[in-house]
Amino acid sequence: MNIIVCIKQVPDSTQVKVDPKTGTLIRAGVPSILNPYDHFALEKALEIKAKTGAKVTVLSMGPNQAVAVLRLALALGADEGILLSDRAFAGSDTWATAYALATAIRKIGTYDLILCGQMAIDGDTAQTGPGIAKQLNIPQITFCTHVDANGQQVVVKKLIEGGKQVLEADLPVLITMTMPVDYAPKYPSFMAAHKAQEKPVHTWTAADIGADPGKLGLNGSPTRVDRIFPPPARTKGEMISGSPAELASKLVEILKKESFVK
Ligand SMILES: Cc1cc2nc3c(=O)[nH]c(=O)nc-3n(C[C@H](O)[C@H](O)[C@H](O)COP(=O)(O)OP(=O)(O)OC[C@H]3O[C@@H](n4cnc5c(N)ncnc54)[C@H](O)[C@@H]3O)c2cc1C
Repeated sequence: MNIIVCIKQVPDSTQVKVDPKTGTLIRAGVPSILNPYDHFALEKALEIKAKTGAKVTVLSMGPNQAVAVLRLALALGADEGILLSDRAFAGSDTWATAYALATAIRKIGTYDLILCGQMAIDGDTAQTGPGIAKQLNIPQITFCTHVDANGQQVVVKKLIEGGKQVLEADLPVLITMTMPVDYAPKYPSFMAAHKAQEKPVHTWTAADIGADPGKLGLNGSPTRVDRIFPPPARTKGEMISGSPAELASKLVEILKKESFVK
């Protein structure tokens, strides 16, 4: 069985600040990490590998430094890494990104299970995984917390409003993984990281994957970023004090004043 995990290098959002003057993100000096949802998806792929002997290929599109997340994935146990890196990819929106990743997956050739994170913590759109499935014309199941596969079928647990669904699907299928709130990513030992240096990482350009240049970058992107701005600062809350009866009556007064109740 061949599993492909799409992984993205993202800025550590806990350390990103917004420039109050320009409203743009201050990325300088901010460390890059493996998108946590992708880290979780990779761990699930490696669990399937441990049971079935599946081959796990990790695929990332980004600048040259994104090779770091591929190396991390190889150290964790993935077999092969592929980096899509080319100026032709710059300016791609989620649809053009999905096109590039799907075209690379077609070039890889044999795939049974494609795992993506639910979303990237910088872009936050959750569109790329479904976009890849659409471009490959294969089924997709989103928001999964568990995944298991046996070579013919996949069984997943999918989050839904108020509960979980257990779903089965024939392979090939694309799954997007969401992680539990208490998820703590695993990291490789020094020795594993050292050994993983011998594993292959290929860098492919747009020409290498036979991509149509008109479907990449800004030309291939149906969306445009109009403006980026931080949300307005929240106004200070009002503290009220008193006995429970006084608090209740003050609260009712406030709600009436704000026209929430008559
Ligand atoms: C007009 C426009 C121009 C843009 N220009 C640029 C640009 O020049 N440079 C730039 O970096 N971004 C650019 N972006 C942002 C870029 O399109 C998105 O970061 C990218 O499409 C992924 O979307 P997302 O971050 O919302 O990921 P999501 O859709 O939330 O990610 C879901 C999952 O898809 C997979 N995935 C997403 N991105 C990748 C990836 N790159 N490699 C492998 N797997 C991935 C991961 O499994 C991830 O968990 C631009 C966006 C727009 C709209």
